[in-house]
Amino acid sequence: KKLGWAVVGLGKFATQQIIPSFAECKRSKLVALVSSDRTKAKRYAQQYGVNPKNIYNYQNYDSIRDNPEVDVIYVILPNGLHAEYSIRGAQAGKHIMCEKPMANTVEECQAMINAAKKSDRKLMIAYRSQYEPYNLTAIWIAQSGKLGKLKAIASDHGRNLDLKDPADRWRANKKLAGGGSLYDIGIYSLQAARYITGEEPQEISAMMYSTPGDPRFREVEENVNFVLRFPSGVLANCTSSYGYSDTKRIQVFGSDATLELDPATDYYQHRLTIKRKNGNEEQNIEEKNQFALEIDHLSESIMQNKQPKTPGEEGLQDVRLMQLIYEAARTGKTIKV
Ligand code: NAD
Repeated sequence: KKLGWAVVGLGKFATQQIIPSFAECKRSKLVALVSSDRTKAKRYAQQYGVNPKNIYNYQNYDSIRDNPEVDVIYVILPNGLHAEYSIRGAQAGKHIMCEKPMANTVEECQAMINAAKKSDRKLMIAYRSQYEPYNLTAIWIAQSGKLGKLKAIASDHGRNLDLKDPADRWRANKKLAGGGSLYDIGIYSLQAARYITGEEPQEISAMMYSTPGDPRFREVEENVNFVLRFPSGVLANCTSSYGYSDTKRIQVFGSDATLELDPATDYYQHRLTIKRKNGNEEQNIEEKNQFALEIDHLSESIMQNKQPKTPGEEGLQDVRLMQLIYEAARTGKTIKV
């Protein structure tokens, strides 16, 4: 059996990665589209076999409640719209998958969790790396003691924001993006530090800098470097940037060996190396479509009535920590979580 999914927002990520990935899903099928552009929606509906009667816009979105073909709504809108469309979706009686970052504020995240609870629906945040085989292997290696005792993590995530790309324009707008590079891509560095250790940070320090006069950074930040201290003693050094060229890297330093994932959180073609004094060892892991895996994970969680692995609370925790990272950078003080 497959559950029916509706995709809200037909932007770059939805149309290039998510919608094509339904072909590889075992428990999920695309049955509805929500877009302000009917012509575009019709084109995708035809291409992916979606019944044109299941095309909605942002005005009649709530009437999706009357469509029994739709079990799950996947919100792939600019960050500032995640809360509204997830809450309306839950109120329409549908389960919700929401893109990262969950929402702009802690309050919005909490309202989303409450709405899903009230409607007795599942809410999952689309943290694809937590379903991706290379990252899962890295977590297993780090936590199994194969690197010795974990001492430090370095994680760097950044890219060069390009205002010529429509998908990057709203990212420079604080109201639509919630924050700058940290909310968009630095969140992967934060996630990596949390899922590699399996712990929550106890202390945070940070520094933030944006190139003066750069029109991209009038409202949102360019660079944030932050340090997290975990209960086991692991220190994570993380960077986040909208200025440096494409980087998606995780390094884990243990007393016996170092693990390097680079690229770590790309869509495809990851690379995992264990480095020891006597040489490097590359791990060959079968690549799988992480989008199909995460989509099916929510469908299976619904079918088995289980909490998904990355529920709303996981998204809320990151938003809470990112706000503390900003506070640490603003005040120059180390913050106890
Ligand atoms: P995008 O701009 O290409 O897509 C956003 C869509 O929302 C567009 O189709 C746009 O028309 C629509 N939209 C509706 N109301 C809008 C408004 N008021 N202003 C602007 N656009 C509006 O962006 P994207 O890169 O596809 O990102 C969409 C979401 O997906 C974001 O939350 C982003 O963080 C997330 N994302 C996740 C990943 C991942 O790997 N998990 C990758 C890329 C993007």
